[in-house]
Amino acid sequence: MSPEAALRAEIVALCRSLFERGLAHGTAGNVSARCGAHLLMSPTRSSLGRLVAEELSLVTLDGRHICGAQPTKEAALHLGIYQQRPEAGAVVHLHSTFATALSCLADTDPSDAMPPITPYLVMRVGRVPMVPYFPPGSDALADAVRAKAREHRAVLMANHGFAVAGRSFEDAVANAEELEENAKLLMLTRGQQVSLLSAAEVSALLAAFGQG
Ligand code: ZN
Repeated sequence: MSPEAALRAEIVALCRSLFERGLAHGTAGNVSARCGAHLLMSPTRSSLGRLVAEELSLVTLDGRHICGAQPTKEAALHLGIYQQRPEAGAVVHLHSTFATALSCLADTDPSDAMPPITPYLVMRVGRVPMVPYFPPGSDALADAVRAKAREHRAVLMANHGFAVAGRSFEDAVANAEELEENAKLLMLTRGQQVSLLSAAEVSALLAAFGQG
C-alpha cells in the first residue's frame, strides 16, 4: 500500500471510530491531513462515519482543489492552521457535545476556555483560547482561528465546537479526544468547588511537554 493509500485508509478508520463513539454526528465535523506537498480533506456534506478513501478531497496548501470530491466548507479554517503551524500534520474539527456545550456558556473565559482540571490536556494541547461566534464556513471564522493558531494548538469556537492540530492524523485525533474528555470533566464539575492545577504546575507541564 502506498503512503497516500495508507493515510486515506487511516483517515477513514479513525473518523468512523470518532463517529461510532459519538464524538461526531450527522455531517458535523471535518478533518484534514498533510499528504506530501498537499492536503487530504473530508468532503463537503460528508459524514465522518461514512467517509470513502477514494473520495477524500486532495487540495493544495493554498486551497486549490486537485481531485476527489469538493472539500469541506471549513477548508479555509484548516488551511489557516497549516499556514500558521508548519509542524502540523493534521487538523481535526469537531462539534463534540461537551466541548460545544462549553463553547455556548456565557462565562467561558476566551483566553483560557478550558482551565487545567487535569494535567493531560495541558500536556497534549496546552492552553485553549476561544474565538467569538462567526458563521460556519465564513472567512471571518477562518481568520479568527488563524490569528490564534500560531500560539495555540487548539481553538474553541463560540457556539460551534473546536479545531485542533496534531503532528500526525493519529496525534490530532488523540488531541481531539483529550479536548472532549476535558470539556466533559469541566461540565460535570461545573458549579462545584474545583481545585485546578496551579499556575506553577501548569508552567512546569508546559516546559516539560513544550506546548504553547
Ligand atoms: Zn463546524
